[in-house]
Amino acid sequence: MSNRSLLVLPGDGIGPEAMAQVQRVIKWFGEKQSVGFDLEEDLVGGAAIDAHGTPVTDATMSKAMEVDAVLLGAVGGPKWDDLDFSIKPERGLLRLRKDMELFANLRPAMCFDALADASSLKRELVAGLDIMIVRELTGGTYFGEPRGITDLPNGERRGVNTQVYDTYEIVRVARAAFELAQKRGGKLCSVEKANVMESGVLWREEVTKLAPEYPDVELSHMYADNCAMQLVRAPKQFDVIVTDNLFGDLLSDCAAMLTGSLGMLPSASLGAADETGRRKAMYEPVHGSAPDISGKGLANPIAMTLSFAMALRYSYDLPEDADRLESAVQNVLANGYRTGDIMQPDMKQVGTEEMGDAILAALNEGA
Ligand code: NAD
Repeated sequence: MSNRSLLVLPGDGIGPEAMAQVQRVIKWFGEKQSVGFDLEEDLVGGAAIDAHGTPVTDATMSKAMEVDAVLLGAVGGPKWDDLDFSIKPERGLLRLRKDMELFANLRPAMCFDALADASSLKRELVAGLDIMIVRELTGGTYFGEPRGITDLPNGERRGVNTQVYDTYEIVRVARAAFELAQKRGGKLCSVEKANVMESGVLWREEVTKLAPEYPDVELSHMYADNCAMQLVRAPKQFDVIVTDNLFGDLLSDCAAMLTGSLGMLPSASLGAADETGRRKAMYEPVHGSAPDISGKGLANPIAMTLSFAMALRYSYDLPEDADRLESAVQNVLANGYRTGDIMQPDMKQVGTEEMGDAILAALNEGA
């Protein structure tokens, strides 16, 4: 057994239902692979509001700052919709991201063979797709100053946002992306609009300066508009893409939808590396708390399972175990198991727990 620490925050709605299945997977790794975790569970979002009057307590925050990784379910729901914005469930998530300084958002777009026909693109374009978009999460247009809406003397109004990046912001997210490329296919594409934006020129220069430190990574550059086209024309040309907050927002949603349902999409957010190379990290599915299906045993636990696979790969440096878990999911899909959100004709429709059973059975078969 080891001292790999993991804080589990199931949250609200389908969060706890899906997390229960992932907890079975975590236990499986401890029992069958001797890959143990020091696991703690705590409340976040509406569940924390109900228990403590705040969407995340200081005590939970301290734990999150200390552990190797946080695995979060989802927060929010109609019960808390009327609360003041400052104490809504979503504030818990924002505080975790802000206090842990999670500046690199990792959104993989992976297409499982069995679901390739469900994509809006042709099967041959997406089958086997495995790309990773690294989006800068704490700077750029969404935070830049000046910003606002002003009244002009001529009676017109002006809306202003500012795209601004300092070198340290570019360098730290680019380093995270280079390191990811080293752990994956060895290719990194940096995306900006250096042809029309000075912030893009700086972005390109700073990323280029880092390249000699990563001789095993092949660096290329692409304008964001071209990248959008290439993602739907020939997405398999990419391995890792690194880009700013605004372009990353658009490109990661576009890439994610090449591959299917919200119930399938994991994500990770990473912070700065300490002197040992360890980064603060939070892993979570892209989907929300799905109040429409909550409590009915219908939620797809795969997005959260794949979020844990990302933690195995990026926080615990256990790539073979990450592969093992991703292959188990691949086999479950190939064997025709589907939750309602990814149901296709002639497949076996199952609920959350049966999907968990199928993943464990596939893990046992592959062990
Ligand atoms: P949602 O992602 O919760 O649901 C959108 C649709 O996708 C729903 O029809 C839902 O049933 C379906 N869906 C989502 N995940 C699924 C899964 N794992 N399996 C099967 N079906 C799934 O988004 P929403 O409805 O816009 O938001 C619901 C609540 O979740 C709101 O309170 C919102 O603020 C919150 N939210 C939280 C997060 C988060 O915690 N990161 C993200 C988005 C939304």
